[in-house]
Amino acid sequence: MLGIRQLFCGHEESFAYRKYDDFDFVEYSRCKRCGKMLKSFKGYDEDMRG
Ligand SMILES: [Zn+2]
Repeated sequence: MLGIRQLFCGHEESFAYRKYDDFDFVEYSRCKRCGKMLKSFKGYDEDMRG
């Protein structure tokens, strides 16, 4: 079985970062080598309350 990454590109390296908009955030996983977006995830950060 191939890793899901290889559906997008053959590189092993990737990094994740989050963009915050008040309490909502979008987390991106992106290949370090070619810059392709591997996946993104939308969420709500409850810890930022208060
Ligand atoms: Zn790549």
